[in-house]
Amino acid sequence: MTAQLNPRGDVAVLVPAAGAGVRLGPGAPKALRPLAGEPLLVHAVRRVAAASSVHTIVVAAPATEVEAVRALLAPVAPVTVVPGGAERQASVAAALAAVPAGPEIVLVHDAARALTPPGLIESVAAAVRDGHDAVIPVLPVVDTVKEVDAAERVLGTVDRPALRAVQTPQGFRRSVLLAAHRSAGDALTDDAGLVEKQGIAVTCVPGSELALKITRPFDLSLAEHLLSTGA
Ligand code: C5P
Repeated sequence: MTAQLNPRGDVAVLVPAAGAGVRLGPGAPKALRPLAGEPLLVHAVRRVAAASSVHTIVVAAPATEVEAVRALLAPVAPVTVVPGGAERQASVAAALAAVPAGPEIVLVHDAARALTPPGLIESVAAAVRDGHDAVIPVLPVVDTVKEVDAAERVLGTVDRPALRAVQTPQGFRRSVLLAAHRSAGDALTDDAGLVEKQGIAVTCVPGSELALKITRPFDLSLAEHLLSTGA
């Protein structure tokens, strides 16, 4: 059954899904790789659509797969599908350009974080609604982190209590994200990085272990296990 989005919602969610997924090994574009019999993107969009304040979902698909992705997602939720770009940042910019007038909160969410709970989507949106321009979900870092040089010699140990691992969805006031993308220079791996460069404060909220990024074969196995236990 196709989920209904909330016509009175104030949130648009952009789902960049145009990456090749080289680190997962050879195969289809990452977002279309199967997880428990369904593409990662289907899992991700189903959870986004279940978040109650979501008004619009825009997916940036691999350019050759736009029609296939439209057909794939039609039974899941009403989504707009646009062709993505060569870099994640270009895919996000393409999706942002397709957001209709209305939603004033924009979330950017990787398709690769396929098991992200709807509650995390709502908590990021709520923090933006409460007045924060930019909000990221984070987890504490459990490993000791060292900085090394090109020869793998240790340069120093980073102060772990001050580190956070950053997830998606990252949430923004729409005008803030638009301005950040307009003045974007080098491609960055996250949108909060663009906003930071504008000198705008970015606020952290607690992330979720379930929002892990499915990047390597091990992550796919872990995600299969989590699904089998009811995630
Ligand atoms: O490559 P990485 O794991 O950082 O990708 C994060 C997300 O960005 C994935 O969902 C991927 O599909 C998406 N992406 C994209 N367009 C690209 C590269 C990555 O939409 N050109």
